Amino acid sequence: MDFRLRQKNLRDHLATTRFDGLLVSHLPNIRYLCGFTGSAGLLLVEQGGSVFFTDVRYDIQAHQEVKGAKVVIARKAPLAALGDFLAKRRKRPHGLTIGLESEHFTIADRKRLSQLVPLRVRLKGAPPIVERFRMVKDAREIALIKDAVALGAKIFDRGLEVLRSGVKEVEVAAEMELAARRGGAEEMSFPTIIASGSRSALPHGRASTQSIPSGAFVVCDFGVILSGYCSDQTRTVWVGSVPQDARRSYEAVREAQQAAIEAVRPGIAVGEVDAAARKVLKKAGLGRYFTHSTGHGVGLEIHESPRVAAGQSEVLMPGMVITIEPGVYFPGKWGVRIEDMVAVSAGGCEVLTPTSKDLLAV
Ligand code: ZN
Ligand code: ZN
Repeated sequence: MDFRLRQKNLRDHLATTRFDGLLVSHLPNIRYLCGFTGSAGLLLVEQGGSVFFTDVRYDIQAHQEVKGAKVVIARKAPLAALGDFLAKRRKRPHGLTIGLESEHFTIADRKRLSQLVPLRVRLKGAPPIVERFRMVKDAREIALIKDAVALGAKIFDRGLEVLRSGVKEVEVAAEMELAARRGGAEEMSFPTIIASGSRSALPHGRASTQSIPSGAFVVCDFGVILSGYCSDQTRTVWVGSVPQDARRSYEAVREAQQAAIEAVRPGIAVGEVDAAARKVLKKAGLGRYFTHSTGHGVGLEIHESPRVAAGQSEVLMPGMVITIEPGVYFPGKWGVRIEDMVAVSAGGCEVLTPTSKDLLAV
């Protein structure tokens, strides 16, 4: 990863704002900018250079991983070390404005920091700047995401070997999660969703101890983190022989998902991608059962920008990686969702998820 280039791009952007520097506190942003993968640290990026503050637990790791920034190992908290660092700064005629990541920096930390730094250092809330850079993935990131997606698809194949009526949802999740670890995953990107029967109508039904009934849908939504990058995939299978109304719901969702995928191309607003899926479900009379948004960005985090939702004006660009995951949910009855990850390409998009979307009955 070219961490120095990423920091340079950030500096070039900061030069166009009122911020002299940005205090990066959100760990995925820190990882993106300098490569640090630990759980405690602060990265100060200024025009003159970058400084990374962490504590003694990460002494060795920070020196191994951090690129493009001076490493400061704090004997106390990283925030206190940062305060000392800024306090020692020579006076500038116009003071210094440091941006804080408003979406992540706590009010308590802001209060603490403001007590540590002299008055001439102004702390101001900054918008999500690094997140905007992270939306567009470079070739190396796309390759890592493809590896994560491939492993994600593989663990679903393992899940299908055990998914039967009478088997507990958590047992299916356990087999998939074991396969993920065996495949090198650091962890799951979120708690595995295996939601069967009426639970499939819960869009986020985590695997429970309920036994999978027959004559029921099972929504399986899962993902792995491999080399830092997340995968996210949903398939819905039927247990038993498929009744007509179940097949109709499934095919409507599949058609909506396909329509949204076909809408993905550079220059289109994400709201239009959402509308493409919604239009199909409305036509099938299922519009009011599609209760969530169509998708989201994926990368170092499972949910990133852009939000692929109604009315959102963010415009797709080559290199963005998003999910397309429409679903319909009938409370007390069942739910269906189909989710792929796609990468926006010059001419449209590449569907990364390899798993078949034909309705599978087990
Ligand atoms: Zn998902
Ligand atoms: Zn998702």
